[in-house]
Amino acid sequence: MTCALCQEREANKKNTHYLTDGIIRSCLNQDGSGEREKGFYFDLSNKSAFVEFNFQRETSIPKLEESLGREPTLEEIEKAKQIPFSVDYVFCSVCEDIFTSIESNFMDNILPKFRESDLNNNEEIEIAECREIRLFFYLQLWRTHICEQTLKLPEHISESLREIILTYETVDNEELDKFPLSITYLQTLGGLKEYTTNFVGFTNDKNPYLIFMNDFIIQFFDSDKEIRFFDFHGLNSGNYQKFVNQNEGEFKVKIVQNKERKQLLNDIIKGEKVKQTLKFYKDSFNKLWFMMFGGNPPIQITQEYINEITGDEFDILKYSKERIVELTRDFIMKRLK
Ligand SMILES: [Zn+2]
Repeated sequence: MTCALCQEREANKKNTHYLTDGIIRSCLNQDGSGEREKGFYFDLSNKSAFVEFNFQRETSIPKLEESLGREPTLEEIEKAKQIPFSVDYVFCSVCEDIFTSIESNFMDNILPKFRESDLNNNEEIEIAECREIRLFFYLQLWRTHICEQTLKLPEHISESLREIILTYETVDNEELDKFPLSITYLQTLGGLKEYTTNFVGFTNDKNPYLIFMNDFIIQFFDSDKEIRFFDFHGLNSGNYQKFVNQNEGEFKVKIVQNKERKQLLNDIIKGEKVKQTLKFYKDSFNKLWFMMFGGNPPIQITQEYINEITGDEFDILKYSKERIVELTRDFIMKRLK
């Protein structure tokens, strides 16, 4: 296979992390010891709507079961054996050096402004090194597009980013700064272990494309025409526009304080669960209706059913299976009268 970046040389490199290891490592580690082997992460893909758990090798099965509330499936265990967010034979070793250069620049010069600074009571931070910060996050986005099915950029955007990365030393600022890019930093206090409560993963949303990288959240738009308010469980509450950088002098990063970070992550998990649970009941109701009446229920009826069992939508998570069966039976009986 030919390398996806240079499109010339043989893709001879094994174990390329497409989300920078130095950023996500502490999140994927359940005991915070700095090794990558332990821990679990989430796939926030909307395909499955649910927050799907994925495991790494060596993650203890009891810990997995505790997190899942059930036994992992064979497929999940198989997944656990792979090194997450890494690929073999997609890039060449020459291009890997380009990645390393962009990543080192960020890790050495930008990251300490976040992880090693006192950000208490700061709502934002301005970064003068726009090139370094943009190149770093473009790299995450583009490599994820190349390596993952869930996050897909349009071909012309992918090509623009490829050229920017390939010519990272000389590309002019005008070309570099044209894409709307928003970065949120989640202040993570309480030692290394706290990082494991953050997420690593992405959704299949578009405009913005969304990537969670431990204490950083990336939102990217194809162009300024695509900028819109994106309500993702409170992620963009407050002055949303202000943090969409484009042709900027200094790059503005939104800071979410530690306490709000916990709330945000909790809201995301809960919200995604509700979405998945609703879908599950809707599908089950449709199936049941089909079995009883030999056709699909009118959309209106399905909606009435969902309204009936939800009330306040978060209540849906509290019902037992028996209670749902009961509610469904009552609903259909009422229809039959
Ligand atoms: Zn290459």
